Amino acid sequence: MQKNFIKFYMHLNLKKITFLLVFIFLWRNNYLFSYEDNFVQLRSEHFIVYYRQDVSQQHVSSIVDMLENFYRLITGEFNLVRDKLWLWENRTKVYIAKDKKDYLENFKCPFWSGACVDYKDRIIYTYPDQKNSSLIFAHELTHIIFREYIKDSPLPCWFEEGMATYIEHKSTLANQHFDLSSLKKMIQNKKHIKFDELMNISCQELYNLSESKINIFYLQSFSIINFLIKNYGKDNFTQLLFYLRSGLNFGEAFSKSFLSFRTLEELENKWKKYYTEN
Ligand SMILES: [Zn+2]
Repeated sequence: MQKNFIKFYMHLNLKKITFLLVFIFLWRNNYLFSYEDNFVQLRSEHFIVYYRQDVSQQHVSSIVDMLENFYRLITGEFNLVRDKLWLWENRTKVYIAKDKKDYLENFKCPFWSGACVDYKDRIIYTYPDQKNSSLIFAHELTHIIFREYIKDSPLPCWFEEGMATYIEHKSTLANQHFDLSSLKKMIQNKKHIKFDELMNISCQELYNLSESKINIFYLQSFSIINFLIKNYGKDNFTQLLFYLRSGLNFGEAFSKSFLSFRTLEELENKWKKYYTEN
């Protein structure tokens, strides 16, 4: 199977919090099961899920329900109306291996990953029985939908990861995903990543950072998106995404959408103040 991986899901070993995932099985008559190339197929409105026969249909149906819910959450949250709808043969594909061994042998994903994604062709590869699969899907679907909306504009990595982690956070029970009190301590102890450094960390570089720095990177990326949306509203944020889609570079789009920040330093100072005083 030829694949063009751009990025891999990196966070599985990094999450500190265990989540209770509640899967509710809902049988839907409009899902169509069929067989193809050693995979069984389940089609929903926006997805085609290919899974090994050994994977239970109940598990697959719960995954499909989850995917459709996230699709609605992500597109609705940021008003991401795209040119080409995910319908018919343009649906996003998800492959579910029998188990981790099958996943590693057939999908050639990194051994430490719980899922990996071909962003270009919109295919997610994964395997069952992972305790944080809902986070994986929320995260990766955000990347896929967001990239499709923005197209090829170069963006700082923290911004893309911030969007994905923001949706992860929204999709978890009781919004307990990220520990903002540790962020407060980090800022007070000056252990956070300075914004001028943050702006220059590329997604490829994340592989070379220490685990603790990656954790800071994700927490901080999430916190900036959260800060912008909580303080300046979803409309400004949607406006920013629209400008990016129209071809403005990140700096131009940002300053046109958030007039309160004249410099990066000003953004950093207001962000610090928000998380240390609240
Ligand atoms: Zn990511």
